[in-house]
Parts: sequence; C-alpha cells; structure tokens
Amino acid sequence: MKHKVTLIPGDGVGPELIDIVKKIVSHLVEIEWEEVEVGEDALKKYGDVLPSNVIESIKKNKVALKGPVTTPIGSGFRSVNVALRQILNLYACVRPCKTYPGINTKYENVDIVIIRENTEDLYAGVEFQPFSEEANYIISKSNGKISKDCAISIKAISPSATRKIAKFAFEYAVKNNRKKVTSVTKANILKYTDGLFFEVCREVAKEYPQIEYEEKLIDNMCMQLVQKPQMYDVLLLPNLYGDIVSDLCAGLVGGLGVAPGANFGDEYALFEAVHGSAPKYKGLNKVNPTALLLSAKMMLEYLGENEAANRLENAIIEVIKEAKVITYDLGGNSKNTEMAEEIIRKLGS
Ligand code: NAD
Repeated sequence: MKHKVTLIPGDGVGPELIDIVKKIVSHLVEIEWEEVEVGEDALKKYGDVLPSNVIESIKKNKVALKGPVTTPIGSGFRSVNVALRQILNLYACVRPCKTYPGINTKYENVDIVIIRENTEDLYAGVEFQPFSEEANYIISKSNGKISKDCAISIKAISPSATRKIAKFAFEYAVKNNRKKVTSVTKANILKYTDGLFFEVCREVAKEYPQIEYEEKLIDNMCMQLVQKPQMYDVLLLPNLYGDIVSDLCAGLVGGLGVAPGANFGDEYALFEAVHGSAPKYKGLNKVNPTALLLSAKMMLEYLGENEAANRLENAIIEVIKEAKVITYDLGGNSKNTEMAEEIIRKLGS
C-alpha cells in the first residue's frame, strides 16, 4: 500500500538527514512524500516561517516527517516546532531512550520512554516586555517581589491538557507492556501549576491500578537518572522539564545522534528526532542519521508497517554493532551517507 506523508526537510543538518531517510525508507515501503518548507528559507521565499500550505498538507495527509528547524536564540521569530505542535494540537511528545548494543555508554539496560506535554507550560509563548501594560499590572500584584525591569513569562498548566497527557502516558504504558509511570515536576516550589499537574496525574493513575505510579521532583529526578536510570520506565512531564530531560536521557544512551521522537495528537502525528539543526555540521555529512531513522521507524509503526519498522531497526542495530561504518559520535569516522549505504546493504541481506 502506498502511503502519503508530508515531508519537512528543515534546515542545518535536516535536509541531508531527510535525504538519507527517504532513500532508506524507499527500500522498505512505498511512500509518496509531499515536501513543504518552513523556517528561515520559507520566510525569505513566502514571507512566513510557517506558510499555510504546511498545515494544510499535514491536515490532509495526517502524518508528517520533519527534519530539525533552527530557532533564533533570544530574539527573532518564534519556534516553528512549538507552533506546529500547538496549531495541530500534537499534545503528546514521545521520546524513547534505550541502550542499543554496540553503543559505548556508561549505562547498560536503559529503556526509558519520555512522555512530554507538548502544548502549554512556559512554551505557551505568553511573555511580556518590561514596562508593557500587562507586565506593569502583574508587577503591581507582586508585593514588590518582581522588579520593574523584569521580563515575564507565563507558565500555564491546565487540568484538561494535563488529564490528556496523563491518560496518554498510562494508555501508552498499558499498550506497550510498561510497568511504571513516574510523574516529574517542581511542585514543592510551583505549588499551583506543578501542584495541579501532580494532582491530575494522581487522579488518572487511579484508573490504571495495574501500572505503578510515583512522583518525583525534577532536581532529584535528574540525579536519579544519572545514578540509576534502570529504575525508570515511563516518565510523564510538563513541557519544559520534558524538553530538558529528553536531552539528559539521550546522553544516557549514546547522545542526540541516537534519540528519536514523535508528536501525537488525536488526529495527526509528526515524527522528528530529539536533536536540533546542529548548524556547525551543516553540509558536512558528519552527523548520525540514526535518530531520524529511528523516528522514521516509529512512523512506520504508526502507519501499520510493523515488519518494515522491525527490518529498519535491525539493520541499524547491525551496522552500529559491527562498528565498521559509523559516524563520529559513535566512535567512527564515516560520513552519514556511507553509514546509510551500509544500512541499505543490511536491509538487502
Ligand atoms: P542540536 O541538537 O542542534 O546540537 C547540539 C549538539 O549535539 C551538536 O553540536 C552535536 O554535537 C550534537 N548532535 C546533534 N545532532 C546530532 C546527530 N544527529 N549526530 C551526532 N551529533 C549530534 O542543539 P543546539 O545546538 O542547541 O540547537 C541548534 C538549533 O536547533 C537551535 O536553533 C534550536 O532551536 C534548534 N532545535 C530544533 C529542534 C527541532 O527542530 N525539533 C530541536 C532542538 C533544537
């Protein structure tokens, strides 16, 4: 069966990795890719970092694969990645982090899945310039705790979005034969927002007595993950902590080069690696294609192509285990195009 998927190459190292994924996936299933542009290039060409045809294409095809997109730091346009998740209500970000044989890491047998709320928290994008009317109002309510030259961001946590992500996490645990969900916040300090997140997760947990539920504070969680990551199974986090802990967990299993991800809503799904556009490596064909390939593997599963997904994962594992044709981050010196050719050879054998 031929699938139709929206393809967003992104920028930086995105287009070279997307080329590799397209080539490898074409050896497994037939996909008609509908390619669209976002980010800086789209801004120059169409006057918009997220042109309307991108959203239309994803709404039509229901599934998208995306390369990383650069977001300017501190100023400039807002994140296209965050906008896509919000506009399409891709409320659940799923990021599996597991140790693969042959990858040199400090840890063995790590198998954690991060479930990150994707639409609110500090990523809601409600920020105020100092001295704006809204900021002045908030400052006036702070009893002198906030100074007049502050910038302010709003952290929004709602019961409805929390319930949705908590249900998603427990359903994920049940479907994937997972044993434990750990909810993570800083509710000792952020009593209203993070307190609410815990409260709703606790309620939802009662509906799933077969799954163990526990709560951890984010600072302690980071230490625990570095000391004994094998203790953890499914992690359930609000947006910002989920973003940070994703990179931490990627570090446990070999780095950003091997960390895949997916964003799910009720209607659409968008697959992308955890890593960003790594601008300093752009055009060098150096960075590891594994993270985006494993994201494509998650996409194949979503499309019901389980056999193709397994074949892809096994071919990647074989190439990494042999360690003859691997990228710099895995201890090799091959180009990513060479690693891709090796994966294709394994698929053929
Ligand atoms: P990054 O993930 O792009 O890169 C950080 C470092 O991780 C790189 O310098 C490299 O050493 C390593 N790395 C990343 N991907 C790798 C791969 N495939 N193989 C081997 N090593 C890899 O993070 P950054 O430098 O903080 O961000 C660069 C840009 O990417 C920023 O504009 C940021 O906003 C954006 N970003 C986009 C996404 C997304 O599109 N989903 C996600 C994260 C960051």
